[in-house]
Amino acid sequence: MNVPSYQLSCCVWEFTLECNLNCIHCGSSAGRKRPDELSTEESLALLDDLKKTGCLGVALMGGEPFLRKDFWEVASKITNLGMELSVITNGAIYSEEIFKNLKALKPRAVAVSIDAAEPSLHDKIRGIAGSFDKSWKFINKALAENLPVSVITTVHKLNIGQLAKLRNMLKGRRIAWQIQTAGSEGCRFSKDLLLDEEEFYSVGLFIESTRRNYSVEEMPVIGAHDLGFNSMMFKNISLHEKWGGCQAGISVLGIRSNGDVLGCLAINNDSFMEGNVRKNSVYEIWNSPGAFAYTRNFTKESAGENCSGCGFMAECKGGCNEMSLMKTGKLHNDPFCFYGIEQDIFADELKNPVKKAMLKFKNFSDRRTSEKQLKKLASIFNSKR
Ligand code: SF4
Ligand code: SF4
Repeated sequence: MNVPSYQLSCCVWEFTLECNLNCIHCGSSAGRKRPDELSTEESLALLDDLKKTGCLGVALMGGEPFLRKDFWEVASKITNLGMELSVITNGAIYSEEIFKNLKALKPRAVAVSIDAAEPSLHDKIRGIAGSFDKSWKFINKALAENLPVSVITTVHKLNIGQLAKLRNMLKGRRIAWQIQTAGSEGCRFSKDLLLDEEEFYSVGLFIESTRRNYSVEEMPVIGAHDLGFNSMMFKNISLHEKWGGCQAGISVLGIRSNGDVLGCLAINNDSFMEGNVRKNSVYEIWNSPGAFAYTRNFTKESAGENCSGCGFMAECKGGCNEMSLMKTGKLHNDPFCFYGIEQDIFADELKNPVKKAMLKFKNFSDRRTSEKQLKKLASIFNSKR
């Protein structure tokens, strides 16, 4: 096979679709496990295959990954093979064994979903009464055990007003905070709750304002890697200095609990399936000529009307493909990039060369997140604290 090799940095594995909560925004509509989920034996073999493919880290998510009885056997194998382990949980299952075992495995991150500062709203979003208290009991114990705790907040119209209250709740507690926005792939989520352009941009503003007003140590916060990019106002909203385009099939891979392989699980669409590990190994799928063509073989001609002609095209490649598909039904056509939104917001200033230059000077040079802050953030989000 003569294909360029791509470094697989992270495999996001939906370990089971079974879930003990019923979150309205769940993109995979989790609840019951799939009838054909991978067995323990198949799961362990998959890890050997991921290692052979050069995978650096595996994130176990669900559904709720702790519901699988073989969780520890599989998680241990991830670290035994020298890959980084991350766990994404709703935090609603608590046992001393969980924390003892997690400590032994030294995960890169233990990420717990918290969607509101008000318990009743969190419970409403998560679909089960009492889930707020359970998740915080989990977080508090994980912090006491010195585990690297992250909180993930998924923002939509119901909870966008909670961000400042959540920050008050999280700051100064050694919790790394990741903010992402909801998509509409799940069957329980009403499109009416999706953020509009203005709200989406204001989430970016909130993160940037938090970066400017709180030290990295007090409130480490990042936007998800696909939460806006190419902004004039807040260039470093995610963990990376630069947005390098959708990473599906470039450096990340998603595997469903039945072994379906996709470039990104956020694109919950069977037409983007590249194969199934029961038929072909991940190694074969990853290295197959023509695989993940929508990202690997991107050409500017594939861009949609929102992106064609954009000066960022070569690196950006039309933004987040999940957002593009959700909003426009096309790939490489993201209407919610910060650059595009700012073209509307600052339309008048951008027409005037002097005002345009001042905008760029004020925001690119002296007000953006510094390199030093970014390095500190990277060490918080990437280290096994
Ligand atoms: S318009 Fe498209 S190509 Fe340009 S920055 Fe936005 S998402 Fe990227
Ligand atoms: S589709 Fe969006 S969320 Fe998925 S890898 Fe690409 S940029 Fe990231």
